[in-house]
Amino acid sequence: MEVAETPSADRAAARIGQGTSARLPRVTHAEVSEAPPIRRGARRRRWFQPSMNAQRSLAINAAADWFDGGGLLDDLRRRVAFRTESQHRERAPELARYLTEEIGPAVGRLGFRWTLWENPAAGAPPMFFAERIEDPSLPTMLTYGHGDVVAGHDDQWTGGRSPWDVSESDGRWYGRGTADNKGQHTINLAALGCVVAARGRLGFNAKLLLEMGEEVGSPGLRQLCEARAESLSADVLIASDGPRLRSDRPTIFLGSRGAFNFDLVVDLREGAHHSGNWGGLLANPGTMLANAIASMVDARGRILVDALRPAPIPASVRRALAEIEPGEPDGPAIDENWGEPQLSPAERVFGWNALEVLAFRTGNPDRPVNAIPPRASAHLQVRFVVGCDSRHFIPAIRTHLDLRGFAKVEIRPGDSEPMAATRLDPDHPWVRWAVESIAATSGLRPAILPNLGGSLPNDCFADVLRLPTIWVPHSYPACSQHAPDEHMLAAVAREGLMIMTGLFWDLGDPGCTPVRPK
Ligand SMILES: [Zn+2]
Repeated sequence: MEVAETPSADRAAARIGQGTSARLPRVTHAEVSEAPPIRRGARRRRWFQPSMNAQRSLAINAAADWFDGGGLLDDLRRRVAFRTESQHRERAPELARYLTEEIGPAVGRLGFRWTLWENPAAGAPPMFFAERIEDPSLPTMLTYGHGDVVAGHDDQWTGGRSPWDVSESDGRWYGRGTADNKGQHTINLAALGCVVAARGRLGFNAKLLLEMGEEVGSPGLRQLCEARAESLSADVLIASDGPRLRSDRPTIFLGSRGAFNFDLVVDLREGAHHSGNWGGLLANPGTMLANAIASMVDARGRILVDALRPAPIPASVRRALAEIEPGEPDGPAIDENWGEPQLSPAERVFGWNALEVLAFRTGNPDRPVNAIPPRASAHLQVRFVVGCDSRHFIPAIRTHLDLRGFAKVEIRPGDSEPMAATRLDPDHPWVRWAVESIAATSGLRPAILPNLGGSLPNDCFADVLRLPTIWVPHSYPACSQHAPDEHMLAAVAREGLMIMTGLFWDLGDPGCTPVRPK
């Protein structure tokens, strides 16, 4: 079948815009401070219930109209055009330009004051900080995003698409960063603008931290949060990254699993030796390594090293996971008898640890010869939930291997920095607040994932800044993140914009947040 040519981005925007209302007005600081205070209904509500008044609905409908007028697509197209590939050193000027020429002016129009912070990690890209403080006695939200993307792989996109020019087809917006993370922070910044336009102010204080190195391990982010904890102080983190559980299910997640990579190496001697003359006389490093790994994780993937196993899953996490079905329609079938016995698939991926063999090498796998190899190595990874500290992993594995006669197996930490695990309690008041708000806007109860299966630098916010962390993802599992043909679903983006507008509306409604008046 012939692939239809991608409609030009401009035509797509024009089509979306047919018969809809004009753009959001730009709001200046002066207009904001003169805006009248909002009136609140006299009816008493439970604090976490959004007020379902006409103003709230008007704000959300205006957001949808602005989306339908092509506003979000325009913003995203401009941002995707910046080639902010953080893995390519020569893109450093482009990374800075994204902040100074695009994001700075955009948040300036929303009444934010912005600045660049030098990255505490030498040679790493600058950090972007912006804030709009309306009144120190109001609740303060910190939000986060990353403007860098993985490499474009320009020649691998199908249908002649360019990763740097958003193209629309079948309700998908293709482009590098549409899902990860430009599309997501563009939605959130737009939602802040929708609330300012509708209410005349946010009704809360907002701070934005945007980094340009997430795809290379967020260098300096943790040190920056430690050094700038006061500037970054807030009542809650609300941010967006990663996928929804499914495209049609609004989702919040409250943390992420940690990741710890390491190598096991058995290096016995110089050179290989003929297996006929020496087989039975020389220890085989491949056999030794295979047995060492088998002592750590059994044939069904159950972890056998106590220190690599988490504590029992808390009741609130089990409750949240009871209605979660992981996997995706076009993804691989989930193996039933894999992993920790007695756990549901959701508990296995969101509530438990996994020890994975990612690579294993001995001899020459591509051209085996009749010789006992001198060396074997494997690259392993622990994905772990909150409560496990990766600093204890290597000593525990060392003791485990020594006790079982594997003293010759060396353990080496991997090149990538370990990622810590975080998880806000699903029963936390901020979670209940977010669930009520999203349900009121979308008519759907969001899926609550206590943490993502994957990893995020959320420990900077949860552990360093000690914030409750609420993530509202606007992507979906099949978005081809980090691959050619990365895309965002227009319908999810539209719903995401409405959800965030509702969430920010409610954050500025003094009667309905978990923050008590100061
Ligand atoms: Zn990414």
